[in-house]
Amino acid sequence: MGTPYSAVITLIVTAGVLNIIMGLYVLSGRSKLATVKTFFIFSLLAAIYTFGAALELSSRSLQEIQFWIKIEYLGMPFLPPLNLLIILTYLGMERYLRPGLLISMFAIPVVTLLLVMTNELHHLYYRDILLRPDVSALKVDIVAGPWYIIQGAYTFACLIGGVVLLLRSWRKMPSYRFQLGTMLIGLVLPLIGDFLYLGGLTPDGMDPIPVIMTLTSALYLWALTSKGLFHVAPIARDNLFSSMREGVLVLDLDNRLVDFNPAAATMMPELSPSAIGEPLHEMWQLHTTEPLFGTEKREGPDTGEAEIEEIRWEIGNHSLHYQIRSSIVRNQRGREAGRLIVLIDVTDKARLQEELRQMAYYDGLTRIYNRSHFMKLSYALLNQAVRSREPLAFLLFDIDHFKRINDVYGHDIGDQALQHIVELTRKTMRTEDLFARYGGEEFAVAMPGLSTSEATAAAERIRAELLAQPMTIPQGPLLITASFGVAEVKTSPLNGTVDAEAEQAWWDTELKKVLKQADRALYEAKRSGRNAIRVSDEE
Ligand code: GH3
Ligand code: MG
Ligand code: MG
Repeated sequence: MGTPYSAVITLIVTAGVLNIIMGLYVLSGRSKLATVKTFFIFSLLAAIYTFGAALELSSRSLQEIQFWIKIEYLGMPFLPPLNLLIILTYLGMERYLRPGLLISMFAIPVVTLLLVMTNELHHLYYRDILLRPDVSALKVDIVAGPWYIIQGAYTFACLIGGVVLLLRSWRKMPSYRFQLGTMLIGLVLPLIGDFLYLGGLTPDGMDPIPVIMTLTSALYLWALTSKGLFHVAPIARDNLFSSMREGVLVLDLDNRLVDFNPAAATMMPELSPSAIGEPLHEMWQLHTTEPLFGTEKREGPDTGEAEIEEIRWEIGNHSLHYQIRSSIVRNQRGREAGRLIVLIDVTDKARLQEELRQMAYYDGLTRIYNRSHFMKLSYALLNQAVRSREPLAFLLFDIDHFKRINDVYGHDIGDQALQHIVELTRKTMRTEDLFARYGGEEFAVAMPGLSTSEATAAAERIRAELLAQPMTIPQGPLLITASFGVAEVKTSPLNGTVDAEAEQAWWDTELKKVLKQADRALYEAKRSGRNAIRVSDEE
C-alpha cells in the first residue's frame, strides 16, 4: 500500500472482511438469531464504513479523502442506533418501541448522511476539511460544524443508553452474563475510542473507531459462531411471554404495573406501554367487581403459593369467566418483590358447567324444572309447611289427547305445544310456586301456602288460559286442553325423635303420598271427560 498506515489499513480491512463474514453467517441461518435482519444490516453498514475508512487512509488527494468520507457516512451514523436496537431486541424490549419511535431513532443519522453528501453547499456538518501539514502522509483535520456535534452527541447517547440497559439486565439475567458482557465490550471500546479521539489523544489525530471495530467484530464473530452469542434464551423467554394465551400481569409491591404480555392487553384493552408504572387497581375495576386478587386479602402469613379464584370478567359487552392465579414474586434474596397475576380464560369450561347444571335441574325443551329437581325442592317445601302448619297444595295436569296432536301435526308441533302450555301456565303462577315437567306431557305445580280450594282456583285459571289462548299453527288455531288433579298436604309433624335416615324416609313417603293423591284426582278428571279439575278427597 505504500503509506505509513499500512498496518492500520490492514487491520481496518480485516474489520470490513469480518463484518461481511458475520453478515453472511447470520444470513445463512446458522445462528438462531432473532434479530437477523438488524444484525445483518449492522454488519453490512459496518463493512461499508470500515472499507471506506481504509480507503480514506490510503487516499492520495484531498478529493479522494472527501469521497471516501462520504462513503463511510453511508454506514457510520446508523451503527449506534442499530447497535441499540440489537440490544433492545435481545432484552425483549423492542415491543415497547412504537413504529414512530423506531423511525425517529434513525432520523438524525439520515439527516447526517444528507448533510455530509451536500456539505460543500452549506458546511453544516464539516465547517472545513484541511490537510494536516505536520504529518508525513495525507491526513486531514476536520473542523466540526453544528450538525457534527449533534451527530456526535447522538452517537454517545446511543452507546451510553446501550451500556445502561445491559448493566440493568446484568443482575436480572445472571445466566446471560456472557452475552451481556460481549455486547458491553462492543459498546465500551468504541466509547473509549471516541473519548480519546475527541481529546486528541490518538496517534496523528486518527479516528480509532475503525481499528476498534476490528476487535469488536472479531469478538462478535467468535461469540456468534462458537458461543451462540444471540442464542434464543432471553428472546425465547420473551417470545414465550408474548405468545402465551394466558394473560400475565407483573406488579410491584405497590400494585403498580411492571409488565404485561399481549394476551393481557387483549383482556384489558386499556393496557398500553404508558400504563406501565400506573396502579392496576382502576384498570382492574373496569372489568370486574372482584377485588384485585391477592392484594386486598394479604393478611396473615402469605406462603407465596399461587392463589386461584374464578371471577366474572367484562370486556366491552362480553361477559367471560377468568381463572385468576396470583403468586408472589421474590427477588434473589428471597424478599417479596411484587406479584404475578395470570388470567386464564375459562369461559368455555364455565359455560359447560352451567350447561351441566341446567341439564341437571331443568328440562331441555321447556326450561322449567325437571322431575328430580322438583322432588328435591318439594321436600324442602313439605318440611317447611308441616313444621309451620301452613297449607301446601300439589297440582298435576296432563294434556288431553296429546298423542293425537303428535299424530296429526307431527312431533315438532307436539314440542311447540308443550312450550306453549308452559308459557301460558307460567303467566298464572306466583313466584313461590314450583313448576316442573313431571313426565312427557304431564306437569306438576307445588303451591306453598295454598289450600285445596285456592289451588283449585289456580288450576281453573290455567284451564281458562288454555281455552282462551289456542296455539297458532300453520293450519290455524289449535285448541289444547288439559286435565287437572289437586291434593293438599294433610301430614302432621313427626312425633318423637327419629334418626336422620328414618326422617328422610318419612318425608319421602309423605311427598309421594300427596303426589299419588293428585295423580288419582287427575285420573278422575280424565275419566270424567277431560278438560276438567278434580280434587283428591283422600285423607
Ligand atoms: P290423554 O288425554 O289420555 O292423556 O291422552 P294422550 O294422548 O295424552 O295419552 P298419553 O298420555 O298416553 O300420551 C302421551 C304422549 O305424549 C305419548 C308421547 O308420544 C307424547 N310425548 C311425550 N313426550 C313428548 C315430547 O317431548 N314431545 C312430543 N312431541 N311428544 C311427547
Ligand atoms: Mg295426555
Ligand atoms: Mg300422559
